[in-house]
Amino acid sequence: MNFKEFGLNESLIEGIEATGYENATPVQEQVIPLILSGKDIIASAQTGTGKTAAFLLPIINKLIEARSEDQVNALVIVPTRELAVQIAQNLEGLSYFTSISSIAVYGGGDGSSFSTEKQALSRGADIVICTPGRMIAHLNMGYVQLKGLQFLVLDEADRMLDMGFYDDIMKIVSFLPAKRQNLLFSATMPVKIRDLARKILTDPAEINIAISKPPARIVQKAFVIYENQKIPLVKSLLTSTNFKSILIFCSKKHNVKQLTMELKRSRFNVKEIHSDLEQQDREQVLLDFKSRRLQILVATDILSRGIDIDNIDLVINYDVPNDGEDYIHRIGRTARAETDGVAYTFISEKEQNKFATIEELLGKPVEKESIPEKFGPTPAYNPRSRSRQGSGGGGARRGGGGGRPGGGGRHFSGNNNNSRRRGPHGTP
Ligand code: AMP
Repeated sequence: MNFKEFGLNESLIEGIEATGYENATPVQEQVIPLILSGKDIIASAQTGTGKTAAFLLPIINKLIEARSEDQVNALVIVPTRELAVQIAQNLEGLSYFTSISSIAVYGGGDGSSFSTEKQALSRGADIVICTPGRMIAHLNMGYVQLKGLQFLVLDEADRMLDMGFYDDIMKIVSFLPAKRQNLLFSATMPVKIRDLARKILTDPAEINIAISKPPARIVQKAFVIYENQKIPLVKSLLTSTNFKSILIFCSKKHNVKQLTMELKRSRFNVKEIHSDLEQQDREQVLLDFKSRRLQILVATDILSRGIDIDNIDLVINYDVPNDGEDYIHRIGRTARAETDGVAYTFISEKEQNKFATIEELLGKPVEKESIPEKFGPTPAYNPRSRSRQGSGGGGARRGGGGGRPGGGGRHFSGNNNNSRRRGPHGTP
């Protein structure tokens, strides 16, 4: 379906064309007319479906037609700073030929940006994209102009709840006018998301475009090994293969740091990204990786969702992700667009049960690859018998691996200190 068929404003169509979109994606086809008609929406749609433009385009269009001057007209709440920046950039492109203004409010930058944010929020910015912590800091000071707010978007709502942002979201909502249009996007729809939706949305239309399986063209392989074989195996794989852009996921910051240090010591072109890094450094690392100056990026799950990096040819799960959704998100970082991709997962003894659960979700086992003999013997893959031993005969499938409360990049705060403001006609 061509974007012109939605009846969008000419200046917006120009921005869509300049961004390079030709036809609407399925989620856009479903969502855009509903938002234009004024409906609240609850949509299960993952990154890669075009969900960002699906909510940005109708919001921009409606604001071109009617917006309150000197007010925040739309508030988009997202879980991570990276996602806030990415949405703001997408918005800049799409709204380039309109006079819609926007600002991303998120943390981690230098102190000077707080006053820029304060100024924008007190004078009004048409579309504000924020992480929860910093937004609350501004709201508490009382200058944010919200009387004219028309739209509230919760993006990656499941992720926000995982990160413990429920109270923050409800607090932000308590500042908003009751009459507004609400749009909730979530990769998964657990009960807690339904509860949140009941509190925030009014008679929403429900849309389901979830991808429950990874694209078939991703070659998935797993290595069943001992924990202490992981670092030597990464090094061996990186040396013996010819991948140009490699993303390695670890479930814990500690593992990210240790692995990066080891790889640097062996002179690989590698950097790390996780929530301990300063915002500026995170942005620089991402930029280097996207532009391919950096070949290998070691990351926590901060990058498993919502971040759009093309042309990654290899994803390595250094640790087994906590659940099937995370696995699909992680390996979905490769084989984007038309390219094929490869995903390797390292399974230590402790992680076997967790991986078996993921294989169940996938509906088939992932091919197990043996490792060179020089690394010594490896454990057998026998998740069920391990689970029977471990649980005293109870065979608790989901209990295996024990989860990792607080692990990975899930719990960095939304507090922030940096901003992007764009004035009329795309001027930064
Ligand atoms: P998202 O799911 O919003 O993260 O979008 C995933 C990627 O698809 C981003 O690079 C978007 O710029 C791109 N995209 C979104 N809509 C379209 C479209 N209609 N045609 C081509 N690419 C699109």
